[in-house]
Amino acid sequence: MLQTRFDEIRTIFDTLHAVVYVADLEDYRLLYLNRRGAALFGEEWQNKTCYEVLQSGIKDPPCNFCTNAILSGHELNDPPHEWEFLNTVNQRWYQCTDKVIRWTDGRKVRLEIAIDITERKEMERMKEEFLAAVSHEMRTPLTAILGFAEYLLENPSTPEERLSFLTTLHQEGERLNTLIDNFLELQRLQAKKSDYQFVPLPVAELYEKTLGHFTYTAPTHHFVIACPKGLPPVPGDRQGLEQLLENLVSNAVKYSPKGGIITLGAHREGSEIILWVRDRGIGIPPGEEDRIFERFYRVDRSNRREIAGTGLGLALVKEIAAAHEGRVWLERPPGGGSTFFVALPLSRRDSQSKVPPGPETPPTPEGQKAVFNPDESR
Ligand code: ADP
Repeated sequence: MLQTRFDEIRTIFDTLHAVVYVADLEDYRLLYLNRRGAALFGEEWQNKTCYEVLQSGIKDPPCNFCTNAILSGHELNDPPHEWEFLNTVNQRWYQCTDKVIRWTDGRKVRLEIAIDITERKEMERMKEEFLAAVSHEMRTPLTAILGFAEYLLENPSTPEERLSFLTTLHQEGERLNTLIDNFLELQRLQAKKSDYQFVPLPVAELYEKTLGHFTYTAPTHHFVIACPKGLPPVPGDRQGLEQLLENLVSNAVKYSPKGGIITLGAHREGSEIILWVRDRGIGIPPGEEDRIFERFYRVDRSNRREIAGTGLGLALVKEIAAAHEGRVWLERPPGGGSTFFVALPLSRRDSQSKVPPGPETPPTPEGQKAVFNPDESR
């Protein structure tokens, strides 16, 4: 009967996704370690101390974070002592619940239940880092807006000065707006909370819509759409892919300050549609290919310092592509500039519906700005 009860309880503790152990309050000897604990810290735990088995590099035992001293003063019905710590053997964070209990021979001992919270800790760290960086980035446009507005309020100004200051105010306002938009979307994607609706989207149509936003704002740039006829539509979220393309084209414009041709191309490679945006601008130095996709990372070179940005655009491009089970990368085309590629699968793993090839992509209308050019290649 007693053995059955013992086996039941042992089964429960061994199945827990937590490290559970019991140690002596005076000599630190381990009296019990569940299966998960033994799997992580070694099967040979009998007759050893808790710090020998569960910690490493403890020179002057016991550990300086040991809770024995606290628990020695506890009564059996006192609430548990809760704490978090970074394990010195596997470098993972644990949330620990320590409680004094009575052992089979009558003495008081320490029971600890330790749950791995490493992922939560990492999320918390990223969130703090992210918030600190965002507030820092917001300060620059805000300082400019407040400074120019104050100057206009307190000083007489000519109509030309007013126009110039208001233009700056508008630009800085736009910058703040983009920062907030990108920031919120990035947060949503990282928290997997975006409500993306996947529908078949004709690529040329997406490109035309994107370029519509740049016709007036980028008059020195010439845009070319290079989509082969018969390209199947890509399954994607319309708003998500529009934001992805807008970020790529806006970078292509920003980082080609002297103007030039910007090409939006696409082709099919096996089960993927490859979208690409090529500019003939200042290019990206070797060694920066991966870092430019990190949040808030901006290439710091004298020729680009005056180009405004937040370092969030490409991070968002990467997240949106990932939410479509796709990937992004950069290549340097011969002749200078940059080509950003986005590979999107024609059928998504987590979707029931496969998108069949066709119908044909509507041909891009020939126009002054967007021209269909089948000869365009990478
Ligand atoms: P930003 O808001 O700074 O443009 P992004 O995340 O969009 O942030 O881009 C990160 C960095 O990558 C930019 O600061 C810039 O240095 C570089 N970059 C991005 N796109 C281009 C491009 N088309 N040509 C040259 N450099 C680029």
